[in-house]
Amino acid sequence: MSTEPEPVSAANPAQPAAGSDDGYVRLRGLTKRFGEFTAVDAVSLDIRRGEIFCLLGGSGSGKTTLLRMLAGFEVPSAGRIEIDGVDMSAIPPYERPVNMMFQSYALFPHMSVERNVAFGLEQEGLSRADIRRQVGEILDIVKMGAFTARKPHQLSGGQRQRVALARALVKRPKLLLLDEPLAALDKKLREHTQFELINIQQRLGVTFVVVTHDQEEAMTLGTRLGVMNQGRIVQVGSPSDIYESPANRFVADFIGSVNMFAGEVREEGPQGLRIACAELGIVRTDRAVRCGPGSTVWTAIRPEKISIARRAPPAAGENAVRGTVREIAYMGDLSIYLVQVQSGTLLRVTLPNITRGRERPIARGEVVWLSWHGSSPVVLTE
Ligand code: ATP
Repeated sequence: MSTEPEPVSAANPAQPAAGSDDGYVRLRGLTKRFGEFTAVDAVSLDIRRGEIFCLLGGSGSGKTTLLRMLAGFEVPSAGRIEIDGVDMSAIPPYERPVNMMFQSYALFPHMSVERNVAFGLEQEGLSRADIRRQVGEILDIVKMGAFTARKPHQLSGGQRQRVALARALVKRPKLLLLDEPLAALDKKLREHTQFELINIQQRLGVTFVVVTHDQEEAMTLGTRLGVMNQGRIVQVGSPSDIYESPANRFVADFIGSVNMFAGEVREEGPQGLRIACAELGIVRTDRAVRCGPGSTVWTAIRPEKISIARRAPPAAGENAVRGTVREIAYMGDLSIYLVQVQSGTLLRVTLPNITRGRERPIARGEVVWLSWHGSSPVVLTE
């Protein structure tokens, strides 16, 4: 196994010191191969002390393998893991300052809630009084203090999730790894539990690394996200960084909905770019990106950043395009419009349903103008 530190990825160029708050968990060139197949490919990443770091990616992108290496259940093929300044390569799973909460919760079915949570402490030989106190404290924090005598099958899915969390936290690990922690819950309960999880994490100050393929969950929970694709971390940033300033087409497309088209740079200056795009006409952007006149780029505009109107906007020569409404989906809080522009392409536009039917709503088949502000398009070069 190589122990040479590898260069940090371009997505995260800072080099915090080992064991510092910013470099609390340091991965350098971390790689896992299964035979010929590379599941995790030279990942270099710094996770901060006390944050909720979400690893987000599609199925098979390497998230769980990365988490299992952190826990010590998989041995890296190359690279290094440091937690709080200590190299983990020679440290077995049970000696790492880490605990893992599995997607299945893995509770002991024949044991009460209290015994399930106490189990890890009993293995450590603590006194009965200490165990009782610590179990009581953590069950109160996860609001399960009234259910200590119940068995797992007598609990709801959300309650089981909280017992699993209590069991994972009772030994106060420095780092808690959570693999799809809310996947077993229905949508409403999941949304509610996300905020509870943040609350508990903030009270205890434990660093969380959460694996999820659910981008809404990652955006809600994560202080920062690492987006994974084919074993690599393709971008690290806050939820708003990732959503508003995706690093490339993969991230723009993976996170949320986006209208994304190729275009040719016509003018480039400190004020931004003018891009000729078959689907959108001339796109003017306020963001300066160095790519060179004549080069091919991609413009990405989020559906909620496009306005829809019956009249042409004042400066219709750029950042505006005419089209016909082909579909409308009423979603309650917002409506989705699919608008076909002259090139035949459908653009997706979302509008919040703020008013209650005072104006005549735009209908399917109407000719409309779509327009957007110069700060809305993101220009992507890869
Ligand atoms: P999901 O969201 O579907 O759980 P993931 O991002 O967590 O996906 P991993 O479980 O890390 O993905 O798997 C990454 C890749 O490595 C997959 O292609 C998987 O088939 C492969 N892989 C994982 N474990 C093994 C193994 N023990 N032997 C061979 N290949 C493996």
